Amino acid sequence: MRRFIQLLNKHKLRLPYSKIVFTLSTFLAVNAFTALPSKAAIEFTGDIDTLVDTVIEGAANSMGKVAGTGKIKWAWCEDTYYNSISKTICLEPKFMKELGKAGKAAISFVVAHEYAHHVQYATSKLISNAQRNTMRLELQADCYAGIILASTDNISFNLDEVQTMIAAAYSVGDQAYDDFNHHGPGENRALALRSGLRYGSSKGEIKDTYYKMFCLGK
Ligand SMILES: [Zn+2]
Repeated sequence: MRRFIQLLNKHKLRLPYSKIVFTLSTFLAVNAFTALPSKAAIEFTGDIDTLVDTVIEGAANSMGKVAGTGKIKWAWCEDTYYNSISKTICLEPKFMKELGKAGKAAISFVVAHEYAHHVQYATSKLISNAQRNTMRLELQADCYAGIILASTDNISFNLDEVQTMIAAAYSVGDQAYDDFNHHGPGENRALALRSGLRYGSSKGEIKDTYYKMFCLGK
Protein backbone atom coordinates (compact mmCIF):
# COMPACT_ATOMS: atom_id res chain seq x y z
CA MET A 1 0.00 0.00 0.00
CA ARG A 2 2.87 2.33 0.74
CA ARG A 3 4.27 1.67 -2.73
CA PHE A 4 0.83 2.33 -4.12
CA ILE A 5 0.62 5.72 -2.39
CA GLN A 6 4.11 6.57 -3.62
CA LEU A 7 2.95 5.75 -7.13
CA LEU A 8 -0.02 8.08 -6.73
CA ASN A 9 2.23 10.86 -5.53
CA LYS A 10 4.50 10.34 -8.51
CA HIS A 11 1.55 10.64 -10.88
CA LYS A 12 0.35 13.75 -9.12
CA LEU A 13 3.46 15.58 -10.28
CA ARG A 14 2.86 14.73 -13.90
CA LEU A 15 -0.84 15.54 -14.08
CA PRO A 16 -2.06 18.99 -15.13
CA TYR A 17 -3.71 20.83 -12.23
CA SER A 18 -7.08 20.85 -13.96
CA LYS A 19 -7.31 17.08 -13.68
CA ILE A 20 -8.78 15.53 -10.60
CA VAL A 21 -6.11 13.80 -8.62
CA PHE A 22 -7.41 10.82 -6.80
CA THR A 23 -5.98 9.76 -3.52
CA LEU A 24 -7.09 6.44 -2.13
CA SER A 25 -9.46 8.17 0.28
CA THR A 26 -11.23 10.24 -2.35
CA PHE A 27 -11.30 7.24 -4.64
CA LEU A 28 -12.99 5.20 -1.95
CA ALA A 29 -15.45 7.99 -1.37
CA VAL A 30 -16.68 8.16 -4.95
CA ASN A 31 -16.25 4.70 -6.37
CA ALA A 32 -17.10 2.34 -3.57
CA PHE A 33 -20.32 0.99 -4.99
CA THR A 34 -19.47 0.11 -8.52
CA ALA A 35 -20.64 -3.47 -8.60
CA LEU A 36 -17.81 -4.63 -10.82
CA PRO A 37 -14.29 -3.37 -11.43
CA SER A 38 -14.03 -0.65 -14.05
CA LYS A 39 -11.66 -2.72 -16.13
CA ALA A 40 -11.71 -6.47 -16.42
CA ALA A 41 -9.87 -7.74 -13.38
CA ILE A 42 -6.80 -9.78 -14.08
CA GLU A 43 -7.24 -13.38 -13.09
CA PHE A 44 -4.78 -14.51 -10.48
CA THR A 45 -2.69 -17.20 -12.14
CA GLY A 46 0.07 -17.34 -9.54
CA ASP A 47 0.40 -19.78 -6.70
CA ILE A 48 -2.51 -19.34 -4.26
CA ASP A 49 -0.55 -21.00 -1.42
CA THR A 50 2.19 -18.36 -1.69
CA LEU A 51 -0.35 -15.52 -1.85
CA VAL A 52 -2.12 -16.84 1.27
CA ASP A 53 1.22 -17.11 3.09
CA THR A 54 2.05 -13.53 2.07
CA VAL A 55 -1.28 -12.11 3.29
CA ILE A 56 -1.06 -13.96 6.62
CA GLU A 57 2.52 -12.81 7.13
CA GLY A 58 1.55 -9.21 6.28
CA ALA A 59 -1.48 -9.41 8.58
CA ALA A 60 0.65 -10.74 11.44
CA ASN A 61 3.13 -7.90 10.94
CA SER A 62 0.48 -5.19 10.80
CA MET A 63 -2.69 -5.68 12.81
CA GLY A 64 -1.41 -8.90 14.40
CA LYS A 65 1.53 -7.05 15.90
CA VAL A 66 -0.72 -4.33 17.31
CA ALA A 67 -3.11 -6.89 18.73
CA GLY A 68 -0.32 -9.08 20.10
CA THR A 69 -1.26 -12.05 17.98
CA GLY A 70 1.20 -13.65 15.63
CA LYS A 71 1.45 -15.60 12.44
CA ILE A 72 -1.01 -18.46 12.33
CA LYS A 73 -1.45 -21.70 10.42
CA TRP A 74 -3.78 -22.20 7.51
CA ALA A 75 -5.03 -25.29 5.69
CA TRP A 76 -7.14 -26.35 2.75
CA CYS A 77 -10.50 -27.50 4.15
CA GLU A 78 -14.08 -28.29 3.15
CA ASP A 79 -15.24 -24.81 4.07
CA THR A 80 -13.78 -21.33 4.53
CA TYR A 81 -13.67 -20.18 8.17
CA TYR A 82 -11.45 -19.46 11.14
CA ASN A 83 -11.08 -22.33 13.59
CA SER A 84 -10.72 -20.57 16.95
CA ILE A 85 -9.75 -23.77 18.77
CA SER A 86 -6.82 -24.80 16.60
CA LYS A 87 -6.17 -21.14 15.60
CA THR A 88 -6.15 -22.13 11.96
CA ILE A 89 -7.53 -20.41 8.89
CA CYS A 90 -9.45 -22.91 6.80
CA LEU A 91 -9.82 -22.22 3.08
CA GLU A 92 -12.00 -24.09 0.63
CA PRO A 93 -10.05 -24.65 -2.62
CA LYS A 94 -12.94 -24.19 -5.11
CA PHE A 95 -14.08 -20.94 -3.48
CA MET A 96 -10.56 -19.53 -3.45
CA LYS A 97 -10.02 -20.48 -7.08
CA GLU A 98 -13.29 -18.81 -7.99
CA LEU A 99 -12.20 -15.65 -6.16
CA GLY A 100 -8.91 -15.81 -8.03
CA LYS A 101 -10.80 -15.14 -11.27
CA ALA A 102 -11.30 -11.59 -9.96
CA GLY A 103 -7.61 -11.29 -9.12
CA LYS A 104 -5.37 -11.39 -6.09
CA ALA A 105 -7.35 -8.68 -4.27
CA ALA A 106 -10.44 -10.86 -3.84
CA ILE A 107 -8.37 -13.76 -2.45
CA SER A 108 -6.46 -11.38 -0.18
CA PHE A 109 -9.70 -9.93 1.18
CA VAL A 110 -11.03 -13.32 2.26
CA VAL A 111 -7.71 -14.35 3.87
CA ALA A 112 -7.49 -11.00 5.71
CA HIS A 113 -11.13 -11.42 6.83
CA GLU A 114 -10.33 -14.84 8.33
CA TYR A 115 -7.19 -13.46 9.98
CA ALA A 116 -9.39 -10.71 11.41
CA HIS A 117 -11.43 -13.39 13.21
CA HIS A 118 -8.17 -14.53 14.82
CA VAL A 119 -7.59 -10.95 16.05
CA GLN A 120 -11.18 -10.80 17.31
CA TYR A 121 -10.77 -13.95 19.39
CA ALA A 122 -7.68 -12.42 20.95
CA THR A 123 -8.99 -8.93 21.57
CA SER A 124 -12.59 -8.12 20.71
CA LYS A 125 -15.25 -7.46 23.26
CA LEU A 126 -17.78 -8.54 20.66
CA ILE A 127 -16.77 -12.18 21.16
CA SER A 128 -17.79 -12.31 24.81
CA ASN A 129 -20.35 -9.55 24.70
CA ALA A 130 -23.84 -10.63 25.66
CA GLN A 131 -25.08 -8.84 22.56
CA ARG A 132 -22.79 -10.89 20.37
CA ASN A 133 -24.25 -11.76 17.04
CA THR A 134 -22.76 -13.18 13.90
CA MET A 135 -23.44 -10.16 11.73
CA ARG A 136 -21.64 -7.73 14.03
CA LEU A 137 -18.64 -10.05 14.22
CA GLU A 138 -18.57 -10.54 10.46
CA LEU A 139 -18.81 -6.83 9.69
CA GLN A 140 -16.08 -6.09 12.21
CA ALA A 141 -13.93 -8.73 10.49
CA ASP A 142 -14.55 -6.99 7.13
CA CYS A 143 -13.52 -3.65 8.64
CA TYR A 144 -10.41 -5.21 10.23
CA ALA A 145 -9.59 -6.84 6.87
CA GLY A 146 -9.53 -3.35 5.34
CA ILE A 147 -7.09 -2.14 7.99
CA ILE A 148 -4.90 -5.20 7.46
CA LEU A 149 -4.83 -4.87 3.67
CA ALA A 150 -4.12 -1.14 3.79
CA SER A 151 -1.35 -1.58 6.36
CA THR A 152 0.67 -4.55 5.10
CA ASP A 153 3.94 -3.65 3.42
CA ASN A 154 4.62 -6.97 1.74
CA ILE A 155 1.68 -6.72 -0.70
CA SER A 156 0.19 -3.74 -2.56
CA PHE A 157 -2.97 -3.11 -4.53
CA ASN A 158 -3.72 -0.72 -7.39
CA LEU A 159 -6.99 1.18 -7.75
CA ASP A 160 -8.66 -1.54 -9.83
CA GLU A 161 -7.69 -4.10 -7.23
CA VAL A 162 -9.08 -1.97 -4.39
CA GLN A 163 -12.31 -1.73 -6.35
CA THR A 164 -12.31 -5.49 -6.93
CA MET A 165 -11.81 -6.05 -3.23
CA ILE A 166 -14.82 -3.91 -2.36
CA ALA A 167 -16.88 -5.65 -5.07
CA ALA A 168 -15.85 -8.99 -3.56
CA ALA A 169 -17.04 -7.87 -0.12
CA TYR A 170 -20.31 -6.73 -1.71
CA SER A 171 -20.77 -10.06 -3.49
CA VAL A 172 -20.32 -12.20 -0.36
CA GLY A 173 -23.11 -10.37 1.43
CA ASP A 174 -26.41 -12.18 1.95
CA GLN A 175 -30.07 -11.44 2.49
CA ALA A 176 -30.71 -14.22 5.00
CA TYR A 177 -31.76 -11.62 7.59
CA ASP A 178 -33.44 -14.07 9.94
CA ASP A 179 -30.77 -16.73 9.74
CA PHE A 180 -28.44 -17.05 12.74
CA ASN A 181 -25.58 -17.17 10.25
CA HIS A 182 -26.47 -13.89 8.50
CA HIS A 183 -23.18 -12.12 7.70
CA GLY A 184 -24.71 -8.82 6.64
CA PRO A 185 -26.03 -7.45 3.35
CA GLY A 186 -23.50 -6.75 0.60
CA GLU A 187 -23.74 -2.99 0.98
CA ASN A 188 -22.78 -3.19 4.67
CA ARG A 189 -19.93 -5.58 3.98
CA ALA A 190 -18.55 -3.23 1.29
CA LEU A 191 -18.96 -0.24 3.65
CA ALA A 192 -17.21 -2.06 6.48
CA LEU A 193 -14.25 -3.02 4.30
CA ARG A 194 -14.10 0.48 2.82
CA SER A 195 -14.00 2.04 6.28
CA GLY A 196 -11.14 -0.23 7.31
CA LEU A 197 -9.24 0.59 4.11
CA ARG A 198 -9.73 4.31 4.74
CA TYR A 199 -8.65 4.00 8.36
CA GLY A 200 -5.58 1.94 7.46
CA SER A 201 -4.49 4.00 4.46
CA SER A 202 -4.83 7.24 6.45
CA LYS A 203 -2.77 5.68 9.27
CA GLY A 204 -5.70 5.90 11.62
CA GLU A 205 -6.65 9.49 10.87
CA ILE A 206 -9.92 8.83 9.09
CA LYS A 207 -12.49 7.32 11.41
CA ASP A 208 -15.76 7.65 9.56
CA THR A 209 -19.22 6.82 10.86
CA TYR A 210 -18.98 3.31 9.50
CA TYR A 211 -15.62 2.79 11.17
CA LYS A 212 -17.26 3.31 14.53
CA MET A 213 -20.23 1.18 13.61
CA PHE A 214 -18.33 -1.73 12.08
CA CYS A 215 -14.70 -1.72 13.29
CA LEU A 216 -15.55 -0.69 16.82
CA GLY A 217 -18.92 -2.44 16.75
CA LYS A 218 -20.65 0.57 18.29
ZN1 LIG B 1 -16.21 -14.39 8.79
